[in-house]
Amino acid sequence: MLSRRICSAHRTARRGESLIYLLSGFFLLVSLQGLSLAQVSLAQAIHLHVDLTDAPRNIYHARLRIPAKPGALTLVYPKWIPGNHRPSGPIGALAGIEMEAQGHSLAWERDPLDMYAFHVTVPAGAEELQVSLDAITTHDSAGGGGPAASSNILDLNWNAVVLYPQGAKSDAVEFSPSVTLPANWKFGTALTTARASGDEVDFAPVSLTTLIDSPLIAGLFYRRIELTKPGETPVHVMDVVADSEGELAMKPEDLAAYQKLVAETGALFGARHYRQYHFLYTLSDVTGGHGLEHHESNDSAASGRTLLDPDLDLLFADLLPHEFAHSWNGKYRRPAGLATPNYQEPMVGDLLWVYEGLTEYLGPLLAARSGLWSPEQYREALARTAADLDHRTGRNWRPLEDTARSVQILRMMGSQWESWRRGLDYYPEGELIWLEVDATIRQQAHGQRSLDDFCRRFHGGESGPPKVVPYTFDDLVRALNEVAPGVHKFDWASLLRERVGATSTHAPLGGIERGGWKLVYNDQPNALTQAVEKLVKFTNFSYSLGFNVGENGDFYDVIVDSPAYAAGLGPGMKLMAVNGRKYSPPVLRAALKAAQGSAAPIELLVENGQYIKSYAVNYHDGDRNPHLERVSSEPDVLGEILKPLTH
Ligand SMILES: [Zn+2]
Repeated sequence: MLSRRICSAHRTARRGESLIYLLSGFFLLVSLQGLSLAQVSLAQAIHLHVDLTDAPRNIYHARLRIPAKPGALTLVYPKWIPGNHRPSGPIGALAGIEMEAQGHSLAWERDPLDMYAFHVTVPAGAEELQVSLDAITTHDSAGGGGPAASSNILDLNWNAVVLYPQGAKSDAVEFSPSVTLPANWKFGTALTTARASGDEVDFAPVSLTTLIDSPLIAGLFYRRIELTKPGETPVHVMDVVADSEGELAMKPEDLAAYQKLVAETGALFGARHYRQYHFLYTLSDVTGGHGLEHHESNDSAASGRTLLDPDLDLLFADLLPHEFAHSWNGKYRRPAGLATPNYQEPMVGDLLWVYEGLTEYLGPLLAARSGLWSPEQYREALARTAADLDHRTGRNWRPLEDTARSVQILRMMGSQWESWRRGLDYYPEGELIWLEVDATIRQQAHGQRSLDDFCRRFHGGESGPPKVVPYTFDDLVRALNEVAPGVHKFDWASLLRERVGATSTHAPLGGIERGGWKLVYNDQPNALTQAVEKLVKFTNFSYSLGFNVGENGDFYDVIVDSPAYAAGLGPGMKLMAVNGRKYSPPVLRAALKAAQGSAAPIELLVENGQYIKSYAVNYHDGDRNPHLERVSSEPDVLGEILKPLTH
């Protein structure tokens, strides 16, 4: 998720994620509610038609034909959305619900306790229930901040437009989906097209699991980019939609890098768990930004000019590699607590430091191996991640695992006091932990084994259509122990329990050190920070004064125990002037430099609600920006890690 490098205020909206395939019968958590199921024939498909012609005004009209038997019936709307890992199904945005049978309107009633359940009685003689509903998409349901559609673009996540019988497993419910597109729009999806005529498209029947795992994007400006050579299987396609034709232009070097990305994943994992793969890529400044992984596609959105602007290209370079890696880590191999039988069963997020954390390690790694990032750009991104986590004072009270378990309550919390509260730290700290694991395996096995071997063993296996293989912490440790048998046995369980279960003042930097590098700070700008600041218009003084501040002076966060915190500053206040001069980033930078040779504090004039007050910040160490510096006495293990596996 781009989120990590965008300032925290913009972080939460970025990376959502995934869906549910389950091993049928694997989990018996669900208590099948016989009453509901008895009234629906699961053998027959539910017909779902979505009229998308009103997408430009952000309303999708759906009509469902649900085979049913007379009697009481409860239908549910998906609540726990895969990849979001939380009860984020957009129930509040559901409107226009009407139910009928045999041509007569039926009264329905929402459950008083479960907002996602609807009760209705199917009349005698009826064999089918017809349901109309509208999904209001002013907030996309893929976890992004903005709308799902705009004048020229739409993103359809099917969970927003379906109801299904309460208690059913999503593998057991079949859907026959179809759409009407706005005139002349083209689309991309991993679903198989059965029939297309003008703007009407019918898809081959699929399970509810596959339907929700197969979003559709469409647009007036669309481009299909082939990422596999003719004749090669499985086929990899990038479906790109943008607000204008010009924003679809991909540079030849980016195209070559994305083709190499496909090859690199083949070499890394040794198997593919999909029949075909679609990168559904939306480029827009209007619709919501997100990345949501699926087995056979990813639904990712970046800024409109990403393919044209070098700074945006840099910032979004690891978005598609991250979401693509999830096809193996997250979709195929999934923590048992996230492999639920349907969308009403709660999820347990404890192992998200593997699901998201390992993916956050593999995404940038694959970006570097594919050439989307240079090794130097990779190191700048890693330095920034390490520095941020090393200034997370909340790590003194909150273990990493608690940030994973708390995904339900943390994701939408925003930036204020985030360094003390902690956010979705299992993403970036997971990256540091898995780098440490990789560098440790390489050291222990004298360069003969690496995390690549673990990935082949854990995520590889046999190629074929999507399936889910759940795992536990013990399964993970066992697989790590098997990576380098014969080599002195390393206590992976203790290392990982310590990393995720204990509190610590400092971030785990062992991977960087074992990699032959160290984290340093100097007054030279960090390349990634610079690009983010240009995009988001904020300035990061986290590693010096202890805050980041928006263009208009708003403090997004103030780090507990930093010089700014000691002076009494807090997020929500607004910086007006520095040493008597109106605030701008260059003015504050100049004041930082001047304070290095002076004993006088930096005077910040700050607005807090209706009051204005001056704060004296005692800080004299100048501007500090994170970078990695080579330790020449140690081998460059990180350099080895970044080498491509294919040529
Ligand atoms: Zn992810």
